[in-house]
Amino acid sequence: MFAVAPKIYRRGFMFVLSSPSGAGKTTLSRRLLELDKNLMMSVSATTRAMRPNEKEGVDYYFVTKGKFRDMVARKDFLEHAEVFGNMYGTPADPVDSALDAGRDVLFDIDWQGTKQLRETRPRDLVSIFILPPSMKELEARLRKRAEDSDEVIGVRMAQASDEISHWNTYDYVVINFDIEESLHRVQCILEAERVRRTRQHGLTDFVENKLLKGV
Ligand code: 5GP
Repeated sequence: MFAVAPKIYRRGFMFVLSSPSGAGKTTLSRRLLELDKNLMMSVSATTRAMRPNEKEGVDYYFVTKGKFRDMVARKDFLEHAEVFGNMYGTPADPVDSALDAGRDVLFDIDWQGTKQLRETRPRDLVSIFILPPSMKELEARLRKRAEDSDEVIGVRMAQASDEISHWNTYDYVVINFDIEESLHRVQCILEAERVRRTRQHGLTDFVENKLLKGV
């Protein structure tokens, strides 16, 4: 074994997790962020109202429709989309600084945002779709949260079918039978993508100027 691992510059990537609400994406994201110190969360801006348990600047930047339009006009967003009647967008600057510094950025965005990133930043994007094991299980999970009325559950199930219909545009698909197993799979994807040759920009220098020269 070597005493010191060689430091090789690597560009970070955008790690997108999409799923219908209730499929376990929020739990997976939280666990991943706790376990992985090189991963940071992208905080989106939204025009939707803040929920009681949410914090400004942590869950979202809550902005007016006017401010959101200004941000779009200034090209502040990497991607933006209307999701179920509200506007959501990913501020570009924090993501770009993190990628340049070799940090990976976790995104909780929908299929429309992922599609835009695939078009504009294909080399920086790794996307995973989280599927529930069944629609029955998804509905049970939504009900267990006990946050919503029957009518809202019905709307969420219809939204879920719509989001699920885009599963086949993602790089990876994980069916969330068991949260620990899904977490392990997602961590494996993260680690594999980190050693992708094309991201390790410092490799040529390492191999040619250090490794082969015996430095
Ligand atoms: P919620 O309002 O429940 O927090 O999120 C609703 C949906 O909006 C989720 O599917 C979430 O992934 C998506 N979303 C959150 N932030 C963004 C964003 O910045 N861009 C896009 N395209 N979707 C987002």
